[in-house]
This record gives sequence, structure tokens and C-alpha cells, in this order.
Amino acid sequence: MRRVLILGGTAEARALAAELADVPSMHVVSSLAGRVTNPRLPVGEVRAGGFGGPDGLATWLAAERIDAVVDATHPFAARMTASAAEASARTGVPLLVLRRPGWPQGPDDTWQRVDSLEAAATRLAVAMPTEPTEPVRVFLTTGRRSLPVFTGLAGVWLLARSVDPPEPPLPPNVRVLLDRGPYTVEGERALIREHRLEVLVTKDSGGQLTAAKLVAARQLGLPVIMVDRPPLPTGVRLVESVNDAALWAQG
Ligand code: NAP
Repeated sequence: MRRVLILGGTAEARALAAELADVPSMHVVSSLAGRVTNPRLPVGEVRAGGFGGPDGLATWLAAERIDAVVDATHPFAARMTASAAEASARTGVPLLVLRRPGWPQGPDDTWQRVDSLEAAATRLAVAMPTEPTEPVRVFLTTGRRSLPVFTGLAGVWLLARSVDPPEPPLPPNVRVLLDRGPYTVEGERALIREHRLEVLVTKDSGGQLTAAKLVAARQLGLPVIMVDRPPLPTGVRLVESVNDAALWAQG
């Protein structure tokens, strides 16, 4: 039996688990961080919760006699990816990173690229009129844990969309919208209009499930502040398609 660990929490990880499920002589374990209530589950065996850093993961890989690891976590799950790279280097268990491509910027998009959430907040502050009569209305889709980076900004009103609720208490300039993709362009356009949103702040997650907001922003002429992905650890092997990852996982 070839034993493969998939570090998951993404649509690609679920697709990979599904693709490998019927391969004879393979045993696949998918791992989730265990932080989302009611997560979408992959087929096959699933474990949940952190490993305890690179040390914990290295120990787990040895104990479970894992032959290969596919890190199919979200492009912004940088700690998990760093931990996987370190555990792989230490144990010799081969690692492949599966990352969907980032979103391409089109000629009609008004994007400003920044390299961190903090830089996005600074960019928002700089872009604001010095004495706004009305708060600038921001559509924030960077995740519930990023909210504190933006809530302290003066002169902004935030529509923060997330899968699970952010930690209370929330300041009065924040309205939370609990939702999980996939989203449609019509739906996103309606949301932008309903809340009179003026700027979108998002992360370059890539993929189809949440891309509709970018199309809606383009159509409605909304500027976008796009947070770039954190860099991958040096030397890791990278593929962008589930198919390539499935071939690699089979050895
Ligand atoms: P992170 O900051 O890189 O990870 C923090 C810690 O959570 C890791 O050090 C690890 O704990 C644990 N962890 C993360 N992913 C794990 C996994 N698949 N299995 C077991 N433990 C995991 O990651 P994050 O940004 O919080 O993301 C957590 C999960 O949500 C990931 O599975 C990711 O694919 C998914 N997700 C993230 C985003 C996002 O925007 N960041 C969006 C959608 C889905 P230990 O150090 O104890 O091992």
C-alpha cells in the first residue's frame, strides 16, 4: 500500500482525494485544520487538527508510515506549507505542493497589488479622501481572522464576508455576511449595489468558486486591492493541476 497524506481544506484537495480514492494499492488520508464549523469533507479517511508544527508533522509521518505528502492547502496557508516543507526535508518523505493558479488581471480591471494584509489597509487609508464626509464602503473578503487589520481604519465601513463568524466584539463600522461560495456574477453585482460598495479588498486565492466578485467589480468599475500570495518555501516542487498531483502521488 502506498500511503499518501493530503494537506487539505480546498476544493483541489477534495478533488485529489476523490481522484485517488479508487486507485488500487493506495491509501489516502486527508488532513484538515479543523477550524471551520461544518467543513466540506473529502472522500476517504479524514483527520483533523494541527500536527504541532514541523516536529509534530515529522513524527506523525513516521508513525503513519506515509510515503508522500501533497500539500493542497490554500495558497495563503503559509504556516502549514512551511511546516510541510520542513518536515519533508527532515524525514525524506517527498512533498509536492498543489496550488491553483492565481487570478489573472485583465485590461479592464483596476487592481492595486499589495504584498500583505497590512499593506492593503495602508493602501486603503492612503486612497481615502482626507476628510471624507461619508465612510468609504469596503467589500472585504480576506477572511475572518484578517478583520482586526482593517477595523481600526478611520473613515471606512466594512462589509466583511466570511464562512464562519469573526471573533466578537465587532466595531459598529463592520457588517458581517456569513456565506460560502460558489458565488455568481449576478449575485455579486447585486451585493455590491445593495450595499453601495466602493472598493473590494481581497486575496489572490485563485480558482473559480470565488472569482465572480472580480468580474462584478470589473463590470461595475470598482477598484480592487489584491493581496498577493505569500512566497513558497525555496526548493519545493509545485504543480497547478489536480491531475498532475494525482500522477505524482501514485509515484
Ligand atoms: P496556516 O496559517 O498555514 O496554518 C496554521 C496552523 O494550522 C498550521 O501550522 C497547522 O498547525 C494547522 N493547519 C493548517 N492547515 C492544516 C491542515 N490542512 N491539516 C492540519 N493542520 C493544519 O493555515 P490557515 O490559513 O489558518 O488555513 C487553515 C486551513 O484552512 C488550511 O487547511 C487551508 O487549506 C484552509 N483554508 C485557508 C484559507 C485562507 O485564506 N488562509 C482559505 C480557505 C481554506 P500545526 O502547526 O499544529 O500543524
